[in-house]
Amino acid sequence: MTHQIPEHTVLNNDLKMPWIGFGTFKIPEGDETYQAVRHAVDAGYRSFDTAMIYGNETSVGRAIKDCGIPREDLFITTKVWNDDLRKKNTLKAFEDSLERLKMDYVDLYLVHWPVKGCYVDAWLEMEQIDHSGKAYAIGVSNFMIHHLEDVIAAGSIMPAVNQVEYHPQLQLPDLHAFCKKHAIQLEAWAPLMQGQGLDHPVILDVAAKHSKSPAQVLIRWDLQKEVVTIPKSVTKAHIYDNIEVFDFHLDDEDMAQIAAMDKNQRIGDDPDNFNF
Ligand code: NDP
Repeated sequence: MTHQIPEHTVLNNDLKMPWIGFGTFKIPEGDETYQAVRHAVDAGYRSFDTAMIYGNETSVGRAIKDCGIPREDLFITTKVWNDDLRKKNTLKAFEDSLERLKMDYVDLYLVHWPVKGCYVDAWLEMEQIDHSGKAYAIGVSNFMIHHLEDVIAAGSIMPAVNQVEYHPQLQLPDLHAFCKKHAIQLEAWAPLMQGQGLDHPVILDVAAKHSKSPAQVLIRWDLQKEVVTIPKSVTKAHIYDNIEVFDFHLDDEDMAQIAAMDKNQRIGDDPDNFNF
């Protein structure tokens, strides 16, 4: 078949990472997270994104344990939070996350935000975690080019992934090119603009043209931009909808129309200016 996209990208340390994962931000600990993850596994997701600060690692871990898919066929990401960076507590924070997840390892461990004065030291602790073998890959999140340059200069392991806010209104071409040059896989958070991107006229037009949903167009666009994507949903129909993106292709005209939507506009915080 033409335009076929493989299920996985291969990270710079040869680890395979699914192009689509399931986001869990703002899904409360307990039954809601448990059910959402179980639905996602049933729908075919094999990659799950959580973080200490989401407060739902325990339920993610429980759902993964119960889901019947061998652990080695799943890809689990979690992240070290800013307070732990400030306390130089990354190694302990990592062990605490494993304990909540009830896992011996995670596939990917990320520095959640580039906390000024702390993220380079945290990266050196991340490298120890990488050497321990308990994270199969390490990476960063919300890093701009200058943050990446700092860890590349200080460290000896290239981040495998940079998870950033990324959608048609925030296309970050310079950061994307930098990551490609250094074999750092870009990963999109808020791929659906947290729901705000779904009624944009361009997205609605492209969706109608392909008889797909606006969410499917946004997710497919990430794949064709070679960006890993992790849409979140607690709605069973959306969870199923969002992974049905391997049966159509955005053509050059669609891609050009979506490219023209870039406004360099964030929904979330600026990685150079946040107060948490
Ligand atoms: P998303 O862009 O994934 O949007 C989620 C919103 O879209 C929800 O309101 C959801 O509602 C709605 N939605 C999902 N699918 C559909 C659909 N098919 N049709 C209509 N509406 C839909 O936002 P997130 O901020 O959650 O980003 C994704 C993930 O990225 C997070 O869950 C988290 O894992 C990660 N993230 C990382 C950050 C970081 O700093 N590293 C920051 C923020 C997020 P409903 O649930 O009702 O379907």
